[in-house]
Amino acid sequence: MSETVRRAMPVSKRVALIAHDRRKSDLLAWVAYNRPVLKEHRLCATGTTGALVAARTGLPVERFRSGPLGGDQQVGARIAEGEIDILIFFWDPLEPQPHDPDVKALLRLAVLYNIPTACNRATADFLVAAPLFHDKYDQQVADHDADREAFLAEQLKR
Ligand code: PGA
Repeated sequence: MSETVRRAMPVSKRVALIAHDRRKSDLLAWVAYNRPVLKEHRLCATGTTGALVAARTGLPVERFRSGPLGGDQQVGARIAEGEIDILIFFWDPLEPQPHDPDVKALLRLAVLYNIPTACNRATADFLVAAPLFHDKYDQQVADHDADREAFLAEQLKR
């Protein structure tokens, strides 16, 4: 069983935004409604989603590549590096995506690193309404590095 490590989430959260094409209007409506809250946090997004959020709200958004062109994997890499606190990912449950493996990989990393994740508007509403969204938070993350180091030490003994 893995030990856990604590990661201090800052008051100003690093929020990643992604929406598949048929979910973009939903995400944009959510962002516009929550603009007063979200402007206190740091936003990043996959390419097209980020461009639309910036254009509609005027908020600064760090943009990655478009999702199907590697953007989901860039967000996943940021999660693995401990640089994203919240994931808002409106994926399309009715349409297969060319980058479905990337979608699955990103959701896997979000679970692995204990990232609060909203995949629909109601969950996203609950997240921004939570007091912890606006406060420091000690996030518990399983210490998988320690597990791998122990495995590596065993292998090196052989
Ligand atoms: P997009 O990518 O923001 O560039 O449209 C989203 C996605 O499909 O993952």
